[in-house]
This record gives sequence, C-alpha cells and structure tokens, in this order.
Amino acid sequence: MNQEQRVMEWIENHQDEIIHFLQQLIQIPSVNPWFFEEPAPSKEKDLQHFLAGKLEGLGANIEMWEPVADELKQYEGMAGYYPGRDFTGRPNLAATFGKGTEGKSLLLFGHIDVVMAGSKWTVDPFEGKVIDGKMYGRGTVDMKGGVAAMIMAVEAILRSGFKLKGPVVVGTVVDEEAGGMGALDFIHHGYRADACILTEPTSLTIAPLCRGILWGKIKIQGRSGHIEMPQADWQDGGAVDAIKKARYILEHLDRLNEQWAVNKTHPYLAIPCQVHVAQLNAGEYPTSFANEAEIVFNAQYLPSERDEKLVGGNVKKELTDFLREVAESDPWLREHMPEIEWLVDADCAETDVSHPFVQTCVQSLKAIGEEGKIEGLGFHTDMGWPVNVGIPTVNFGPGDPSLAHHSDEFTPLDEVIQAVKMIAKMIVDWCEIEEA
Ligand SMILES: [Zn+2]
Repeated sequence: MNQEQRVMEWIENHQDEIIHFLQQLIQIPSVNPWFFEEPAPSKEKDLQHFLAGKLEGLGANIEMWEPVADELKQYEGMAGYYPGRDFTGRPNLAATFGKGTEGKSLLLFGHIDVVMAGSKWTVDPFEGKVIDGKMYGRGTVDMKGGVAAMIMAVEAILRSGFKLKGPVVVGTVVDEEAGGMGALDFIHHGYRADACILTEPTSLTIAPLCRGILWGKIKIQGRSGHIEMPQADWQDGGAVDAIKKARYILEHLDRLNEQWAVNKTHPYLAIPCQVHVAQLNAGEYPTSFANEAEIVFNAQYLPSERDEKLVGGNVKKELTDFLREVAESDPWLREHMPEIEWLVDADCAETDVSHPFVQTCVQSLKAIGEEGKIEGLGFHTDMGWPVNVGIPTVNFGPGDPSLAHHSDEFTPLDEVIQAVKMIAKMIVDWCEIEEA
C-alpha cells in the first residue's frame, strides 16, 4: 500500500470517530456574542480549549491568544477592523504541526463561532443528531463540518504513521459571523503559509474567490400631507409622497442592474453582481403621504473592483454617483438629495485558478472521486486577509452554503468524510509526508 492508500484506509476505518468529533463541536454552542441583546459570556473559548486539547494530543505546538482591538488600529478603514471590539474570553488558536522545510507549508483555516440558533428547529440545534446520514445542528454547515474535517485530515496522516515534510498550521478564529476581526488578528499575529484552505462550506467544490458585500440604506425625504385631500404643488408647500420618490429610484436601480448584469460578471460565478433591494421602509399611517422612505439594499462586488484599502470604496462611489445623477433628474429630489447610509462592507479576494495550488486542489478532489469543479462563492468569506498577505487561498468544505444560518441546518456525513479525504490528500500532495 502506498502512503495515500494507507491514509485513505485510516479515514475509511474511522468514520465513526470523525462523525463523533463533529458532534462534539456542535455540542459546544459557540454562538457569537454579537447575536445576544444582553452581552452573554461567549462559549467560543470553551470550543477553542476543546480543540487545543485535541490538537496538542496530536503533537501540535499550540498558541492561543485573545485579540486586542487597540493593537489593530493600523487597519482602520480596512476589512475586519472594528474599533474597541471586546475579545475577552474569545481567543484565537493556532496549532502548528512539523517544522520541516522540505515540503510546502499549508494553513488550514476556519472560524468556530456560529450564528444564533433562531426559531423553527425540529431538532435540538446543539445536539448534533444524525438522521438518514445527515447531521443536524447549528454550525454543521457553517462551518464546524469544515473545521472537523481539516483537523481529522491531519489526524489521519499522523495516525497512519507518517510525519509531515512541510508544516501544517491549523488556525481557528473567533468572530467571523460579526465582521471577521478574528481572521484579521490571526494574520496580523504573523501566521503565514505557502497556501491556505479555508474550510467554509462549498458542497465540495473548489472556490478560489468570494464576492464583496455592501449593505446600504438609501434615505429619501418626502413631505407628509393628508392623503385624501387635494395637494398644492410641492413648491407651494404641498405634500410629496416619499414612496413615489422611492419608486422613481427603484426604477432607475432596475436599469442599473441591467447594466451590471452585463458588466459585472465573472467566469467562475453563476450570477452577476446586482443591487438587490432587501427591505423597504416607508410611511407612518394610512391617511398621510409618507414623510420618508428607506431602501435597504445588498450590492455585491468583484475582487477586481476593490479599492486601495482592498474593500468596496469604488463601488460605494459608483452607487453614490448613480444616486446623485438620478436625483438630479427630479426637481424635488434635486433639492432634497437622498443619502446612502453604509451599513456593511465585507471584503473579498481571488486566487488565480492557474495557480499550482488551485490545480493541486482540483487534482486531489478528482483523486477521491469527485468532479473537481471550480466555482466562486457569491457571498463573503474570511479569505480576504490570507490573500492580502500573499497566501494563495481556496474555500473548500462540506455542506451546502445555502443552508447556512437556517433552522434545521444539516450536512450530509458522506460529504464530511470526502472533505477529510480531500484535505488529507492535499497534505500528501502539497506538504508531502514520510514515515514517522
Ligand atoms: Zn462561515
């Protein structure tokens, strides 16, 4: 049996252990404290300690530390920086295996925080119940399935009797679900590698890019007035219907989206970038014209559109200019210029598909019987910071990302096992291994 066959056989024979490990991760409810109205003590620490114990038992060198927001001030205006955020009891963790410099190094990277359970679960969200070959629970998809897979891949190599030629760092961070400051801090802390697999859910496709996400709120002024009465011209003090003005802007947004549908595409993305309207807020009561209206939107951007701080400033400017132009064409809006309040800018990144690392990933996937498909992610992941410091990075993990944050979130267990195999194969091919 060659090296690879021995490792694959270990994985085949230890599926129950892999599944049990994932279950243990689900059972520690590491909900990001951002999701509680009253600041609750975070369980992120409990999970990091559990992982540290596991990784130390496998022979890793462990470093665990709490991020300090003030030490990250230099990243003001960049992705993931939130001034004054409190990381007390919320450590990041790095576990380093092997010191060898013969092979190439690999960072296996993931976040261990989850969003809150929310309502409408038919099973206990923190039990990790298995039904028909699927594990249910908060984080099975996003992204404890991936975290379990990457750690078990390392275990499979070591317990098959091998050691690493190139080092592997397992990095688990906090606070992805509320902005990504954990990942920023991890990279700031100095961890580097020749390549990185971020084990976010991709349904086992290779995702060498993600999109940036902007949330904004367009605030439109009107002037209230009795809705059943004749109204004077607005110049003479008459009412102005903010909803009608919002519709005017929405129609122009439709036209902008037609242009974006042609201009803002990417060969590895199934859908173009769009300005999607997610919420409309307007009006106070049924007898008055709306005084104000708000259009809350979600606009996506491509890695190629990032500004000099590697975030969405260029697209923010594009949308601000667009809104000004639309407003200029309406007499009321020209004098009551609508404004955009920016709520979120989640960054993005891209690794060239021709990079040897991406190609090795594709070959490894094919070797374990998968298609080896490359497909970009429409949403944001933490891949920005590793890429920003020059680490070629792909997202790859078990689970359907469209089920993330859902009630009854689940991952098929055969995908988890396949992910363990693929990551183990990557370690064999990229880092290389030898008899211990
Ligand atoms: Zn995630």
